[in-house]
Amino acid sequence: MRLVLVGPPGAGKGTQAQFLAAHYGVPHISTGDIFRANLKENTSLGQEAKTFMDSGQLVPDAVTNAMVKDRLTWEDAANGFLLDGFPRNVAQAEVLRAILAEKRTPLDAVLELSIPNELIIGRLSSRRTCRGCGLPATPDASLCASCGGELYQREDDKAEVIAKRLDVYEEQTAPIIHFYRTEGLLITIDADGEIHEITERATTALSRVKA
Ligand code: AMP
Repeated sequence: MRLVLVGPPGAGKGTQAQFLAAHYGVPHISTGDIFRANLKENTSLGQEAKTFMDSGQLVPDAVTNAMVKDRLTWEDAANGFLLDGFPRNVAQAEVLRAILAEKRTPLDAVLELSIPNELIIGRLSSRRTCRGCGLPATPDASLCASCGGELYQREDDKAEVIAKRLDVYEEQTAPIIHFYRTEGLLITIDADGEIHEITERATTALSRVKA
């Protein structure tokens, strides 16, 4: 299964990606996670991405596209992948299409997690993230349910940055929905509900896709 997950920040992409990647036996490739790992290790890529991430803006395409192109050559992605957080604009979607066309391995589907704006702000501002494994956690948790790591609030989950991220989504990322609808790849599900219900909606919708 070669799948892209798309939706506004706070739609639950990271959480669903984790379950769906395990379900289909493919790697979960999150560009945000890769950037955060690089920030933590203070690599040159992390330093390059930091100011954009902290202000809720997109890291420049040249940096992001090269990173994804490289990641897709890894052995674990040979039989499929789940991309989370990429593409984030139409130019990135075109680059992805070209990378996959070259390998003759086109996308099977693009799953859109749809959620009303008013739910997003509450979810993001109360979200905590694990410093160890990077998974999202609920605000009432004291430690990460997956690895027991310490929880923190992402710099870009603070109120002042959330508004900027939502603007960036509307202006730059939402147009890829139209792009993928035109390509006949778009599947939209309602992402409001319990985590397991949304996973079930996703796998039911994706079972109609021939991968
Ligand atoms: P995320 O964890 O997906 O919300 O991403 C966190 C931040 O990483 C974003 O706000 C961007 O600054 C950066 N980022 C992640 N994916 C991309 C991408 N595909 N293109 C540009 N910047 C990205």
